[in-house]
Amino acid sequence: MNTVEIINKKKYGEVLTYEELQHVITGYVEGNIPDYQVSSLLMAIYFNGLTNQETSDLTEIMVNSGDQIDMSFLNTIVVDKHSTGGVGDKVSLIVAPIIASLGIPFAKMSGRGLGHTGGTVDKLESIEGFHTELPLDKFKEQVKEQGIALVGQSGNLVPADKKLYALRDVTGTVDSIPLIASSIMSKKIASGADSIVLDIKVGNGAFMKTVEEAEKLATAMVEIGKKLDRETVAVLTRMDQPLGDEIGNANEVIEAIKLLRDNDYSKDIYDVSVEIASQMVLLAKKASTIEEAKSLVSDVITNGKAYSKLVEFVEAQDGDIESVNELKANQTIDVLSDEEGYYASVNTQSIGEAAMLLGAGRATKEDQIDHQVGITFHVKLGDAIKKGDKIATIHSNKQNNDEVIQKIKKAMTYTTEAVESKNSVIKIIK
Ligand code: URA
Repeated sequence: MNTVEIINKKKYGEVLTYEELQHVITGYVEGNIPDYQVSSLLMAIYFNGLTNQETSDLTEIMVNSGDQIDMSFLNTIVVDKHSTGGVGDKVSLIVAPIIASLGIPFAKMSGRGLGHTGGTVDKLESIEGFHTELPLDKFKEQVKEQGIALVGQSGNLVPADKKLYALRDVTGTVDSIPLIASSIMSKKIASGADSIVLDIKVGNGAFMKTVEEAEKLATAMVEIGKKLDRETVAVLTRMDQPLGDEIGNANEVIEAIKLLRDNDYSKDIYDVSVEIASQMVLLAKKASTIEEAKSLVSDVITNGKAYSKLVEFVEAQDGDIESVNELKANQTIDVLSDEEGYYASVNTQSIGEAAMLLGAGRATKEDQIDHQVGITFHVKLGDAIKKGDKIATIHSNKQNNDEVIQKIKKAMTYTTEAVESKNSVIKIIK
């Protein structure tokens, strides 16, 4: 097969066959096709797109490029969740024990954080002793015994995505819907998911800035699921302000604990977590309507079963849950409002960057993070705020926090007219 002919076909907007896509992807992974030819094809895909069939073919080829985890020994439907990432997104920490306490196995491989969004593995590592690296056989054994395990991505899963993503990153081809869709879905499928719930974040703190863009991504992923026989549901959720009250690693674990143990939460994080968990319950066929699923989910939150499962899970991975009862940063500094009015908008990405400046996140993959630092937000969009009101509290190990304080203040805007608060769950696509 001729690689240049394949590039030309896509350049002229034609449809590629499975064999043609396979030729390029396999050749690239094996080192027989150079970066410059794959870059050229990626750019042609960026401009001319892929059909649903091409996108699912590409996904399948990527899945087959490396190892696949076989969870069939569980003899049940394995449901996974994925979030496209946002600021204060601790939904996995909350949903995992909820799902497991309902007898649905939760077996997740999760990523670390990069840039203004955090990663679940980093958050869990703020628990003293917690191990996020488990050999595959231990991971499977724990899922069988405890019904829950959450580890960092390891092994040779989807090597095609690792290579392609690195190339997309330096060739301006990350923000292509079929390439994002196939990248995410290939990793979920390779890690053993039969069914998938996607939390597609929408807003100024997310990858997808508008509902229209998010709908396109959601539809592309749901279509891949249909073609590759993995039932997939996408939930579009708002990321136009930090989710919940806490940003930072230990901060977010503490917020998850408070929700599950004390039933103490802010509405947005509760609503999103309950929606994602309930969609998972439906896909696992443990309920036949969304109302029934929601009632099962809210029951295990209120009766403490989900919290007990969290404790069991943390212990199984050698963590000491008591170690995250309070934050241990050297300084807590309140940020007071200089303005007055209804809290109208916030540049969420800027808030994520402020947390990163404190050391809660990484600017580059090599950066070390400080698990004890972060930001507690005391206000939500729509709140009426007076001058001098406490809008946030910074938990810092730094001497000088002026830049962080100014960044938080500058990110927020106020109006004189009342602002309507919006539901955090925007829509479901299946
Ligand atoms: N996340 C992924 O895993 N892949 C993409 O292409 C974009 C975001």
